[in-house]
Amino acid sequence: TDACLDEIAGAGALNAFVHDTPDMARQMARAADARIRSGDATAMTGIPVGIKDVFCVRGVPSQAASRILEGFTPEYESTVTQNLWDAGAVMLGKLNMDEFAMGSTNEASCYGRAVNPWKGADGRELTPGGSSGGSAAAVAADLCLGATGTDTGGSIRQPAAFTGTVGLRPTYGRVSRWGVIAYASSLDQAGPMTRTVRDAAIMLGAMASVDPQDSTSADVPVPDYESLLTGDIRGKRIGIPREYRIEGMPDDIAALWDKGAEMLRDAGAEIVDISLPHTKYALPAYYVIAPAEASSNLARYDGVRYGRRARLEQGDGIVEMYEKTRAQGFGPEVQRRIMIGTYVLSAGFYDAYYNRARKVRALIRRDFDTAHADGIDAILTPTTPSAAFPLGTMDQSDPVAMYLQDVFTVTLNLAGLPGISVPVGQDSQGLPLGLQLIGRPFQEGDLLNQALALE
Ligand code: GLN
Repeated sequence: TDACLDEIAGAGALNAFVHDTPDMARQMARAADARIRSGDATAMTGIPVGIKDVFCVRGVPSQAASRILEGFTPEYESTVTQNLWDAGAVMLGKLNMDEFAMGSTNEASCYGRAVNPWKGADGRELTPGGSSGGSAAAVAADLCLGATGTDTGGSIRQPAAFTGTVGLRPTYGRVSRWGVIAYASSLDQAGPMTRTVRDAAIMLGAMASVDPQDSTSADVPVPDYESLLTGDIRGKRIGIPREYRIEGMPDDIAALWDKGAEMLRDAGAEIVDISLPHTKYALPAYYVIAPAEASSNLARYDGVRYGRRARLEQGDGIVEMYEKTRAQGFGPEVQRRIMIGTYVLSAGFYDAYYNRARKVRALIRRDFDTAHADGIDAILTPTTPSAAFPLGTMDQSDPVAMYLQDVFTVTLNLAGLPGISVPVGQDSQGLPLGLQLIGRPFQEGDLLNQALALE
């Protein structure tokens, strides 16, 4: 814990931690020490971790990197963080992210961008990815041994790929959403970001639970994931979906994908060409459903119940109070999502957009069900269409360019499936690249075991 606190103090330029809790960390580390001495430790006891700012931690500012939650200090604890503290993990602080987890570069944060510890050609600063950019940067720079992330459309896996770390998004319902500030409730899921697959197995085991406080928490027992890491994947059937071979895929990504398939084959898995025919509709469906749910979830930020209220002028009424609070409190990307979301949910367009997107979602889920019925255990794809790119590259006037970042990651969120990104190689500039394995529902143990073969 002391070593991590020192690293954090020296790594201000990465802007990964946005709120340090050193006193809390030292106190928790002392308690963990006593617990270890008394012989009552878990594998997480004494392990210093960082927490994405989207998790409510009692007594610690929790803002989801939004100005609208300025001054909000929760009086209760998210189930995930409570589970981690119960296992003996040590809280180092809150980590940077895109506001309300909307984004792929960590540039949409009220704290300013986080920076990737990897540097580009001529030393240019790169994005650590998003929205869990601070978590990924902190793990990659050894500021903590693990971090929590959330993944609605790729926010754990894409930053993991951009920083050479491991990121696991569990099956929807595996990890409680209680106390996690909502983005899109039917897609959100928290998971671990770590340096190794084994660490991810240990941390997931501590984070996951069956939680009556989250009605979508699944009543499935949490196995000891670490004990499932046998390294034996002989006879497993790994699908390579042809629809993911998108036009213009860079050569190094295509080569990495082949290399990953080779590694799995060498470990005894059977590599099978498969088809997921509705893949190309996933991104447009996601960018209807996620903003629709976001617009509904964000309606609660009205200047009354939480956080900040805009300064009012003489004569302003309640409508002006709402308008000014929301106009000043939400950043441009969040405002864009609210506008898209309210539009697709409006009476005149509901059928054309929201309902159609829901139907597409059902078809995407069916594609995966068909693959599983054909005996496919996991599906291998690239995590991202490129390596990390320089900060400032994404033109704010062209948000669709950023949305295209999520082309390989959103499908499994729509289907509720688990996925992991593992660092497998490098691009021509030496920057890390990741591959994604998509698993069967609630089979995170198998998924982690297959991911071992890619390490
Ligand atoms: N980049 C995607 C978005 O902005 C995914 C974000 C996430 O998974 N939280 O919606």
